[in-house]
Amino acid sequence: MWENNVRKIVPYTPGEQPKNPDKIKLNTNENPYPPSPRVMEILKSFDYNDLKLYPDTDSKVLADELSKYYKISPEQIFIGVGSDDVLSIAFLTFFNSEKPVFFPDITYSFYDVWADVYRIPYEQKPLTDDFKINPEDYKKENGGIIFPNPNAPTGVEESIEMIEDIIKSNPDSVVIIDEAYVDFGGKSCLSLIDKYENLLVVQTFSKSRSMAGIRIGYAMGSKKLIKYMNDVKFSINSYTMNSITQVCGAEAVKDVEYFKETTAKIISTREYSKKRLKELGFVFEDSMSNFIFASHTKYKAEDIFRDLKSRNIFVRYWNKPRINNYLRITIGTDEEMNKLFSALEDIFAGYNN
Ligand SMILES: *Cc1c(COP(=O)(O)O)cnc(C)c1O
Repeated sequence: MWENNVRKIVPYTPGEQPKNPDKIKLNTNENPYPPSPRVMEILKSFDYNDLKLYPDTDSKVLADELSKYYKISPEQIFIGVGSDDVLSIAFLTFFNSEKPVFFPDITYSFYDVWADVYRIPYEQKPLTDDFKINPEDYKKENGGIIFPNPNAPTGVEESIEMIEDIIKSNPDSVVIIDEAYVDFGGKSCLSLIDKYENLLVVQTFSKSRSMAGIRIGYAMGSKKLIKYMNDVKFSINSYTMNSITQVCGAEAVKDVEYFKETTAKIISTREYSKKRLKELGFVFEDSMSNFIFASHTKYKAEDIFRDLKSRNIFVRYWNKPRINNYLRITIGTDEEMNKLFSALEDIFAGYNN
């Protein structure tokens, strides 16, 4: 039976992409603002004739721009088609022992999928009740460590000191810090990459740079780590990132002012939303990301999720142990958030009747 020999896997389930034009979409942590206007300008001047050529396998224009921005060598940067691509290559490259890879029980739900598809053993370390990592959990023999900082879907940030302590205790494995949400006021571990050869920091254009649709992610680390990742990538598919994306990414990085302005707007809307959600009876740990992971003191998350959806407001809900009474609410514009808060008031008034 041929089917006995198929690699079988339960795939990752992304958040819904509803088509209704009037929807308010707060379910996949996208940025509510458009990409930098410089991206539009570069698209207009893109030489159409260039499309007949293969793209640059090293995405040099983009790597050079990132290297200037972060003041690191281009050889310390690996570029991929979204950080999902980068993380997938990193799992395949670095988590190659028989020992289990460690990550939190409540975290980005793609990690266990990559571990399964590549047949990497793993252990999920339970977060504390306030969604914090216990560093001692990560000081046992392991085949690698990965977690997001701030964590997803909790939004909780860990200190650089604690992370450094974990890296220091694990000279025999690669430690990956997934910084998808670090630009919303968090602290990056980037300054540690020259000190620890085994630290890989992964970031993305999907959230803070408003470019989820174009697919750009990157990893930063020692030249050795990056070389190993490139060797694996060039053994699978060299031409992953197309030439249009490479120049769009480079232009976005150049627009530092726009980046600062839009991330500051999200942070300010987030802080206002924390206040409003508390007034509405929600409780949550402090978030340093572009979403809030909240539970209601009186009403069930699943009911709120359903009733918001019937009003065309989409947030994320998981029917999973420990988090099945939480909603993950992406920070939209002030206008979108105010519509959410009015809808919630209305829904709760209905529950009380
Ligand atoms: C969104 C997200 C990613 C993936 O982002 P890409 O769009 O693939 O760059 C990776 N890690 C975490 C924790 C995320 O939330």
